[in-house]
Amino acid sequence: MELYKLKDNIYYSEYEEERDRPSIGYIHGDNISVAIDAGHSKKHLEEFYDALKRNNLPLPALTIITHWHWDHSFAMHSINGLSIANKRTNQYLKEFISKRNEINDDKFLHLDPSITKEYENQELIVVPCDIVFEKELNLDIGSIKLKLFEATSPHTNDSTLIYLEKEKVLFFGDAMSGVFPTWIRDPKLRDEFYNTINSLDVEYCLGGHWKPFKKEELLKELYID
Ligand SMILES: [Zn+2]
Repeated sequence: MELYKLKDNIYYSEYEEERDRPSIGYIHGDNISVAIDAGHSKKHLEEFYDALKRNNLPLPALTIITHWHWDHSFAMHSINGLSIANKRTNQYLKEFISKRNEINDDKFLHLDPSITKEYENQELIVVPCDIVFEKELNLDIGSIKLKLFEATSPHTNDSTLIYLEKEKVLFFGDAMSGVFPTWIRDPKLRDEFYNTINSLDVEYCLGGHWKPFKKEELLKELYID
């Protein structure tokens, strides 16, 4: 897996469509390092950690989850350090865990060919988050400050955006997408998301399944169905 440098101390991994592996973000702070999303599975996460090691970067002490979807959160059981997500994301994860049985696991593993492929030789392990926040949280990891905040999105109703104001970088998970599996965007939710992004002084927007967008590119892409 390749790791790309966006700018000083800000990286992102390559994404893959076949096994629905999103790009994982990485911020190298003076005090601690932070990952954006855990990944689809233990194997996905291990490849990301190998890429960090090859680049002489420390493993993240904190992993921020952008939304509950499996491809972003189901590797949480294997992370280094602690995970953090908003309350609703954690509720969705707990709900998934509480409904687990052979039938539902089988249903999930056949929900999409990318999930079946990813879990061909892996056990499905789902855990809730270690830390939960509500609305907004500011983190100072030494020389870099992160603002985590809940935002309305056409993709899910548990979206967390991570904003690095000084660096003008935004991590948005899948928040620009429509809903799984039709990918249809509710027009009202899309407009709200547009307004949120438009109000931020941001240069690069990094999501799970795309190359980095410039702000204007993201705003345009949002209206292409
Ligand atoms: Zn998603």
